[in-house]
Amino acid sequence: MSGTFVGMPAFPRAAHDAVRDTTLRGNLRHATHTIRAKRAKAVAEVSDWAELREAGKRIKDHTLRHLDRYLEQLEESVTAAGGTVHWAADAEEANRIVADLVKATGETEVVKVKSMATQEIGLNEALEAEGIRAYETDLAELIVQLGKDRPSHILVPAIHRNRGEIRDIFTREMSEWGRPAPDGLTDTPAELAEAARLHLREKFLRAKVGISGANFMVAETGTLVVVESEGNGRMCLTLPETLISVVGIEKIVPTWQDLEVFLQTLPRSSTAERMNPYTSTWTGTTDGDGPAAFHLVLLDNGRTDTLADEVGRQALRCIRCSACLNVCPVYERAGGHAYGSVYPGPIGAILSPQLRGTGSEIDASLPYASSLCGACYEVCPVAIDIPEVLVHLRERVVQGGPATREGNKVVLKPAKGHAAERAAMRAAQWAFTRPGVLRTGQRLASRTRRLHPRTLPGPGRAWSGTRDLPAVPAEPFRDWWQRTHGTGEDGGAK
Ligand code: SF4
Repeated sequence: MSGTFVGMPAFPRAAHDAVRDTTLRGNLRHATHTIRAKRAKAVAEVSDWAELREAGKRIKDHTLRHLDRYLEQLEESVTAAGGTVHWAADAEEANRIVADLVKATGETEVVKVKSMATQEIGLNEALEAEGIRAYETDLAELIVQLGKDRPSHILVPAIHRNRGEIRDIFTREMSEWGRPAPDGLTDTPAELAEAARLHLREKFLRAKVGISGANFMVAETGTLVVVESEGNGRMCLTLPETLISVVGIEKIVPTWQDLEVFLQTLPRSSTAERMNPYTSTWTGTTDGDGPAAFHLVLLDNGRTDTLADEVGRQALRCIRCSACLNVCPVYERAGGHAYGSVYPGPIGAILSPQLRGTGSEIDASLPYASSLCGACYEVCPVAIDIPEVLVHLRERVVQGGPATREGNKVVLKPAKGHAAERAAMRAAQWAFTRPGVLRTGQRLASRTRRLHPRTLPGPGRAWSGTRDLPAVPAEPFRDWWQRTHGTGEDGGAK
């Protein structure tokens, strides 16, 4: 994934710093509460929402089950329509393909429509190393790029910035990248939007190469779909002579009829709109209309590893609506940067450790970045059971040790951390499989209960500092049952 996230501290450490930033918490609270209320209203308007959600889940599961077949169909359709398909196993290969394609045009500048896949692979940095400058054209991405910042939300990458901060970034940085901000720029939304429009317009008109992602790819016709609110995507997709789209292989749907479901659930779940203001679709190339050359780079980068995991594969259903972020109490307080990935929030906590493996400190910590309250599952328009996957990944981290990718394989290695937890689990397993030992231990614990400490020593001190340890009863349950019922707790005579 993007080099900008390499070496991030584990989630608890990053979140510890983030929650102390009162401006950040204020910005996040205001934004997430506003979006979540609007979403709830937009969803409530649809009487068959539950059916749409179930349909989306089934379509995605069916497609993932037959992914090989649909990808081959897509390749045939795109090629027949005049496009060229490239396959990229990982970030390095995808970046090399895109850089070579841009260099072949002789250009040194590209315009980009917001794309999570290109952020995931660190495309901007890879292009820069080849002497190619990439200009982000989505307003929020522009703010992130000008501010030398990192995105912190799937849909609103600059959600951590307020209007005053954005005005300062525009005033300070725009001249470095092209047309400067107007003199006396204020922080009113209209003025900020106009400054961005003027700054970007000259880039749109000059660019010969556009780079995009896609929300969906329709296998039956080879059509790509981008939904957006600003119109910058439409400019990037239509004005340049060459269009390069980098898309994760899971973004495929078999037919236009399947697409219909997601074009209803995505806008209501993301921007709380009944439909997206701009829905752009394109199929290969058309003489005299739009780009003359179209390249589709199909990106794996850990997706087939994720697909191999029976529990974890449901993360590939994600349509990146960001509804789970907006209802997550952990995201609201910690912010997106603490997740150390382009995919923050609940979906990031299950997607990043699967795409990247759990070998790094940050990735091994992500499955724990949740209270398992289940709010994310409730709002997810494709019914991804995020808490289930989180628990599954915790199991992988604790029992199997970190999983790392070696070439195309996921390899489990002995865990280095969590030694105390693993020792405690082994001791519990030993005791629970020996009823006589367990009974003796419970009696001993009851008899010595007045001597038990109220807080745990050593590394357990922080845990017990904020919790009451459960009181040990004067008599173990088994003894009480036998005394009062005269039978074993399974009902059998003792
Ligand atoms: S996991 Fe579900 S709610 Fe979260 S971004 Fe993906 S589709 Fe939306």
